[in-house]
Amino acid sequence: MKKILVLLLLSVFVDKVCTQTQVIAHRGFWKTEGATQNCIAAMQKADSAKCYGSELDVWLSKDNVLFVNHDPFYKGVSMENDKSSAIKKLKLANGEKLPTLKEYLSEARKLNVRLIIELKKHSSAKRETRAVEEIIGLIKKYNLEERVEYISFSLHATKEFIRLASPSTPVYYLNGNLSPKELKEIGCTGPDYNLSVLKKNPGWIKESHELGMKVNVWTVNKEADMRWAIDQGIDFITTDEPLLLHRILKGGN
Ligand code: MG
Repeated sequence: MKKILVLLLLSVFVDKVCTQTQVIAHRGFWKTEGATQNCIAAMQKADSAKCYGSELDVWLSKDNVLFVNHDPFYKGVSMENDKSSAIKKLKLANGEKLPTLKEYLSEARKLNVRLIIELKKHSSAKRETRAVEEIIGLIKKYNLEERVEYISFSLHATKEFIRLASPSTPVYYLNGNLSPKELKEIGCTGPDYNLSVLKKNPGWIKESHELGMKVNVWTVNKEADMRWAIDQGIDFITTDEPLLLHRILKGGN
């Protein structure tokens, strides 16, 4: 009887540890001194804060150099239609230069945090395929294949990551318009959807899990929403407030 009770408690514990929601810092942990969105320091701070992952946004310049930035333009320079020589001159708000993906990865190698790499939607499928090929090539070169996950709003880019990345690399789709069954059919790891999409379709979380997929939700910054997502058994929460989420997951009030 005692043995059964111990085994039961152990299985509950294992289940709890294995299924605990993981923290992904949105554009790195940037809401802290010395950091800004998508800078190298924000990734380092996400690593120091023991986040599961640090998300970043990637563009391919006109001359095929990958850069880490969210918006299509920064200080009037186009991430997609200008040359790397112009983008490389740009400075971020914290004084860092706007990083190439190469520079970003060479620092990532020294850390443990996983990289959640978002390829932004580009002007053509051809450019997106080229960007996917360049990203996967760099990830292999820096020996980071076991530490990356790919995400995109573009269905074409998502399918290209699924086609070209190592089969063990997770690929999530961001756009919110495909059901779990449709995602499963294209070989996706699962939905990485906006909070409002999952609140509208709460059944999609259970359905994804039943199909053997994982669920990520963005961008969850309010405590009540974090608690809702945790209660739903969501696997990953992408947030601008990683410390708050860590506190909630540790059972703090
Ligand atoms: Mg992003």
